[in-house]
Amino acid sequence: MLELPERALEIRDQVNDFFQRRILPNHSLWLEQAAAGQAQPEIEQTLRAEAKALGLWNMALPRLADDEPGLRLSNLEFTGVAEVLGRLEWASRVFNCHAPDVPNMELLQLFASDAQKQRWLYPLLEGDIGSAFAMTEPYEASSDPSNLTTRIHREGDQYVINGRKWFASNASHANCELLVVVGVTDPEASRSKRQSLVLVPRNTPGVEMVRDLPVFDHRSPTNTHPEFTLTDVRVPIANLLGEQGAGFAIGQARLGPARLHHCMRAIGECEVLISLMVLRSQERSTFGKRIDEYSSTQAAISFSRIELDQCRLLVQQAAHLLDTMGNKAARKQISMIKVAVANSYQNIADRAIQLYGARGVTNDTPAARAFAKARAFRIYDGPDEVHLQTIARLEAGEQELGQMVHYLSER
Ligand SMILES: Cc1cc2nc3c(=O)[nH]c(=O)nc-3n(C[C@H](O)[C@H](O)[C@H](O)COP(=O)(O)OP(=O)(O)OC[C@H]3O[C@@H](n4cnc5c(N)ncnc54)[C@H](O)[C@@H]3O)c2cc1C
Repeated sequence: MLELPERALEIRDQVNDFFQRRILPNHSLWLEQAAAGQAQPEIEQTLRAEAKALGLWNMALPRLADDEPGLRLSNLEFTGVAEVLGRLEWASRVFNCHAPDVPNMELLQLFASDAQKQRWLYPLLEGDIGSAFAMTEPYEASSDPSNLTTRIHREGDQYVINGRKWFASNASHANCELLVVVGVTDPEASRSKRQSLVLVPRNTPGVEMVRDLPVFDHRSPTNTHPEFTLTDVRVPIANLLGEQGAGFAIGQARLGPARLHHCMRAIGECEVLISLMVLRSQERSTFGKRIDEYSSTQAAISFSRIELDQCRLLVQQAAHLLDTMGNKAARKQISMIKVAVANSYQNIADRAIQLYGARGVTNDTPAARAFAKARAFRIYDGPDEVHLQTIARLEAGEQELGQMVHYLSER
C-alpha cells in the first residue's frame, strides 16, 4: 500500500475510532430499526449528528469551497477513510460520504447555478436531504446513454418531461427531494449532444413511483432502487443543469469519482471477508485436519490477498491521477479499477461463502450479501464489457513500442 499523507492517516484513525466505538456496537440496533421499516434508522441519525459535530463530515468531496462544511480530503487521501467506511453498508451515510449523494453533490459543485446550489447543494452538504440520479431506463440498453428515450422538451419557460426510469437508487427513499433526470432535449442532435440533465423536485406532480426493485431478492427501506414514471412533469427552464445538450459530458464527470468511491469501499469490505475466512478456517476441522491446513484454503486466502492488494494499488493510482490530472486523464484507470475491483470483490465473497459452508449462504455472515452486491457491481456504474471496451480503445491509442516488431523479427 502507498503511504498516505500524515493528515489523511490522522483522519482515517479518527474515523476508525468512531467506527469501532459508536458504529460497530450499534450495528444490531441499526439492523433492527431498518427491519422495522425505518428508512433513516434513529441510531443512524444520532450517529450522523455526532460525526458531524466532530467534523468528520463530507470527506469524499475534494472541491469543497471555504464556506462549505467538511474536510477537504483529496481522492487519494480519502482512500484510507473509505476502506473503513466500506466495512459496513451504512457507515458511509453516518459521515455524509455515501452514494448517490456524493456524486450528485460533485455534479452540483461543478455545474449548478448559484440558485441551484442554494436550493439543492447546500442542503445536501448539510445532510438535510437526499437525492437520486435517474439515467437508466427499463426498455432501452442503458449502458449506451445515447439509447435513452426519456423526452425533455421546452414549452415557454418550462421543460416538460415524459419517460420511465428504473434503478434510480434512493429515488423512493424517505429523504429524497432531488431527482437528477437524464433525458433527450434534441433528438436530431449527434448521439453525444442529445441529452441534458434536469433537476426535478421529487414531489413534482407527474412523478409516480411504480415499485422498488429487489437486488437478488433483497429490499431495504434504507437503500431503494425504484422504477418510476414521469408524465408531463413540468419544471422551470432554470432547472437545467449545465448547458442544454451537455448531459453526456456532464454525466461522465460524475461517474469518475462515483466509481472510485464504490471501489474504495469494496476494498474495505473485502478486508473483512479475508479476516473472516482466516478465522473460520482456524476454528473448524474435517478429516482430522484444521481447515486452514488444506492447500485449497491457503490458496483461497492467498489469492484473495494478492487480488485485493493489487486492487488497492490500482485504486490509489486512479485516485492520484484523478487528483492531479482530472477525470478525462484518469478514464482508463477508472475503467480498470471498476473491472478489477468488482471481479475481485465477487471472487473474494465467493471464497468466503465456500469456507463458511452452509452458513456462508445465510445472513449470519456478511459474505452472501457481499456476493450479491459484488455481482450487481459488475453491472452498475457500467457493465464489465463496456469498461473493457474503453480500456482496449484507449490502450490502442497509447502504444509506443509497436515499431520494435521490425527489430524483433528473425527474418
Ligand atoms: C444495484 C444497482 C444500482 C443502480 N443504480 C443506478 C442509479 O442510481 N442510477 C441509474 O441511472 N442507474 C442505476 N443502475 C443501472 C445501471 O447503471 C445499468 O443497469 C447499467 O448501466 C447497464 O444498463 P442496462 O441494465 O440497461 O444493461 P444493457 O445496456 O442492456 O446491457 C446488458 C448487457 O449487455 C452487454 N453489453 C452491453 N454493452 C456491451 C458492450 N459494449 N460490449 C459487450 N457487451 C455489452 C453486457 O453484458 C451488459 O451487462 C443501477 C443498477 C443496479 C443493479
